[in-house]
Amino acid sequence: MALVTLIFSLIARPIIAVLHPYFFWLGIFDILLASGLYLLVRSNTRPEWHISLSLIVALIIILPMLAISGGVNSQVAVFLPLYPVMGALIGGRVESLVTSLFLIVTVLFATIFSHSIINVSGEYYADNTSYLRGFWLILAIMFSAVFGQFFLNRYNELTKKLKTENLQDPLTELLNRRGLNLHFAKELKQAKVTNSPFCLMLIDIDYFKKINDQYGHDVGDTCLIEIANRLNQGIQAHHYLARFGGEEFIIVLPNTDLSEAEKIAEQLKETIAIGRFSHYQLPLTITLGIATLHGERDNALKIVKRADKALYRGKEKGRNCVELEA
Ligand code: GH3
Ligand code: MG
Ligand code: MG
Repeated sequence: MALVTLIFSLIARPIIAVLHPYFFWLGIFDILLASGLYLLVRSNTRPEWHISLSLIVALIIILPMLAISGGVNSQVAVFLPLYPVMGALIGGRVESLVTSLFLIVTVLFATIFSHSIINVSGEYYADNTSYLRGFWLILAIMFSAVFGQFFLNRYNELTKKLKTENLQDPLTELLNRRGLNLHFAKELKQAKVTNSPFCLMLIDIDYFKKINDQYGHDVGDTCLIEIANRLNQGIQAHHYLARFGGEEFIIVLPNTDLSEAEKIAEQLKETIAIGRFSHYQLPLTITLGIATLHGERDNALKIVKRADKALYRGKEKGRNCVELEA
């Protein structure tokens, strides 16, 4: 669109006004530069440059407009302070700062040499207020750059918060299923590539419905939080504990073989069995089902299913026990 405008202005402008040849060559240079950069973006050879190139195209389009319409005295100048914010919005810190620096230097030059630049009607457009205007323009660009940085700080904070909330269970503050899946997929792939042991544990609280029925949902919630904390304390840094849903938990155990996983499960079972939960000091137990990775063709769904079957067998055997996959 901008290119069409530039081309049209080159063809139509001479019909309306007789211009200094300087404007014609400026227009041609502008079109060649903007088209070259546009084609570079479209060719998709350097996707990581897209944002920087788009910002450069935006600058190439506005700067000649500024030059032919009165420099720092031009109406176009009021748009310049928008650019650092635009740089922050579509790029980031570096893009915003580079844009600001570039504009400040440009405005500085436009102010100093305002007496030697002619405008569309062939007049020198500098007047006594040029220096003052240049000063305020640079100040406005600086403010805009600072605002861009503040905006990015806030944006990054909110994005981080949103990401955490998206992957975290609000009650227990453990990973939720979505959060777990990220690690699960990555660790499973790694285990297959490196041919290292990998186990998965499903945990279900025994007779939990009774707690809710007898003491209320809020006491049930407290028990869930306390059990989650105890489980969390009982695992190692490279294990991933998540709330699988309801009163069920899941632990992904990379670099852990079945006998090691069984040992960890027995310890977790004991920790919960000897614990007392909520201010009612309620005794609770858990049942655990464990499955392990079986070669290249195995997948997350199959492993979870086998762990679930083991867990179900544990429940049938009377609960408060660890059951390995068949
Ligand atoms: P089992 O030993 O067979 O697992 O018995 P159970 O009572 O634990 O099993 P069931 O699946 O029948 O009940 C699970 C209960 O967990 C049902 C529901 O009330 C409770 N529950 C699930 N999510 C929450 C929660 O977020 N807070 C509370 N307080 N209770 C929950
Ligand atoms: Mg259950
Ligand atoms: Mg249960």
